[in-house]
Amino acid sequence: GDARLSRITKAETTCNYCAVGCRFELYGKDGEVLGVRPAEAEAAPANDFSTCVKGKFGYDFVDADDRLETPLIRKEDAPDGPVGREAFREATWAEAIDRVYEGLSEIRDEHGADALSVISSSKTTNEENYLNQKFARQVLGTPHVDNCARLCHSSTVAGLQQTVGYGAMTNRINEDIGETDCYLITGSNTTESHPVLATRIKQNVRDGAELIVFDPREIGLAEHADRYVRTTPGEDVAWLNGMMRHIIEEDLYDEAFVEERTRNFDDLKEKVEPFTPEQVEELTAVPAAELKAAAETIATADTCIFGWAMGLTQHTTGTRNVMAIADLALLTGNLGKPRAGLSPFRGQNNVQGGGGDMGPAPHTLPGYQSLGDEAVLEKFEGEWGVRPPNDIGLRLPEQFHAIDDGELRGMFVMGENPVLSEPDIDDVERSLREIDFLAVQDIFLSETAEYADVVLPAASAAEKSGTFTNTERRIQRVRPAVDPPGVAEPDQEILIRLARRFGYDWDYDGPADVMDEISSLVPIYGGVTYERLEAEPNGIQWPCVDEDDPGTPYLYEDEFNFEDGKARFVPADYASPPDMPDEEYPLTLSSGRVLYHWHTGTMTRRVGTSMNHVPESFVTIHPEMAAELGIEDEEYVRVQSRQGEIVVKSNVEDTADPGVVFIPMHFPQGAINKLTQHELDPTSYIPQYKVTSVRVTPLDVP
Ligand code: SF4
Repeated sequence: GDARLSRITKAETTCNYCAVGCRFELYGKDGEVLGVRPAEAEAAPANDFSTCVKGKFGYDFVDADDRLETPLIRKEDAPDGPVGREAFREATWAEAIDRVYEGLSEIRDEHGADALSVISSSKTTNEENYLNQKFARQVLGTPHVDNCARLCHSSTVAGLQQTVGYGAMTNRINEDIGETDCYLITGSNTTESHPVLATRIKQNVRDGAELIVFDPREIGLAEHADRYVRTTPGEDVAWLNGMMRHIIEEDLYDEAFVEERTRNFDDLKEKVEPFTPEQVEELTAVPAAELKAAAETIATADTCIFGWAMGLTQHTTGTRNVMAIADLALLTGNLGKPRAGLSPFRGQNNVQGGGGDMGPAPHTLPGYQSLGDEAVLEKFEGEWGVRPPNDIGLRLPEQFHAIDDGELRGMFVMGENPVLSEPDIDDVERSLREIDFLAVQDIFLSETAEYADVVLPAASAAEKSGTFTNTERRIQRVRPAVDPPGVAEPDQEILIRLARRFGYDWDYDGPADVMDEISSLVPIYGGVTYERLEAEPNGIQWPCVDEDDPGTPYLYEDEFNFEDGKARFVPADYASPPDMPDEEYPLTLSSGRVLYHWHTGTMTRRVGTSMNHVPESFVTIHPEMAAELGIEDEEYVRVQSRQGEIVVKSNVEDTADPGVVFIPMHFPQGAINKLTQHELDPTSYIPQYKVTSVRVTPLDVP
């Protein structure tokens, strides 16, 4: 009875999967998460009472048998590659931290700080991401710090910064996305990737809102749409420009808004002129009548939400795609008011905050403050006693090439798994075999950690305290429900150990203290304190510049984030993807997620419910194409690209054009990134994950 109950702990916390940022009570006992109970509505602004299957059942990983419980050091005689746990011996914290210190400082002494890089993690808290970039910039003195936001929405950030100012969702989930009159959703499989957000959309559509879905795949949301339009992967600028052309031609744009609140309209008008409905149909297979009708619905709706995810961003034209959708929102006056806005659906729990706002990125300081701004550099120097390096560092995908070139020799990876998440992973694995020193801090011996010299055991989100910032810029508390296993520690504590070993006096008294430093340096977090987050359980939406600022539910009510307060139309040039199908590789491979899994699967591949539903990778093939290729449903097939090949199970299903196949991104066996190419968007450096030419053959065909 009582004794047993007394050992059960309860934490009001934020989901550690996606960036919808659902809040609930997490119950734990003896290191095991027992379950989840929805939070009271007033303390769950994004989700009210709902959670999805991951938020509800996705915790088996927390007390999985193979959680890292002690630091590990690679044995002297262990081979270079991934041979599993046997390659390592257990070590004490002091020993492991010494090894990381020696490994990194030897390289720095011989080759300079520029030979080192640090990778941060959007799965960890804001405070940990802040400390991660501080470790890179202050302690190591390297500009090379980056994180997986590079791989998901870096093009969103770049595209929105150039058009409207802030690289973030402009609106709220409930009050705006949940209440709008019209949606254009493109490149987002919302029901699988952001389930609770999709529920909001579906409810609102049931109540009469118009839903338009443009996507190469007939995804779950398409079933609820008033208009589903199948697009050709990678040709989004063409149909977006075509919509704008039609809206301008029919005089359906918001003239007053364009006049008063924007610049460069004439450039836009000129740039979109060639994209006639007929031209768009030729480039994208979008029927002219569909294009016109969708454009008219969007332009005449009172309010419209433009929602997107990786289908729009992960292209060599990713930044242009985002600029084009931002142009469309500006043209139709759908910014700066409730129930409207630009809604990039961010992926990981804390990619907006940790991956973006906290600045573990090679081209920007925390709070998107410029490396070229002398006053900003002085401010950081004043706080840190060290001037942050102000040259632009290497972006994540570039770092692996820099290893091959001998420029980069040591890497510290916190909670990232590039061996599965980077494009063309055969290449990444080659680089990690070459690197002089690799330290990985994680909750499991990930595919990447297998290459490490030292592995540091971290606490999961269920075991620590801090904040996450969800996709609507809402900063919310994270609290521990259970203790970490063995001697594992929160990433924050490990970073503090490391910084101290390097002789830096990091004496933070917990995450609240780190947040105080963040708010003193980052204007958009200027009024954020733990006292407020305790008192205001709905969290705070940035910008929140001082203690009297209630935060900003939706952006740009009065002005855009530019000196003159005006938004900019930045017309987007059209270009087709770099790897087009040909005789040898006749099919187009697209990628994405499934509801039951999460990213590289480190967590969900250890969750019973997830593995029961989707135990392994697969390739979805259209029935006509399967028949043509002689492939049966659920047979193992070979998928080959110019980069590599994998074997996966077939899933014969009519969701996309017969020329398009699909593979999810969550599995090491049949890893899709053995096929993808190292082609980067020139502005954001996001890789071209979404369009890869492949051929699919039955296994018995040589
Ligand atoms: Fe967690 Fe996202 Fe599911 Fe909400 S929708 S429970 S935040 S994974």
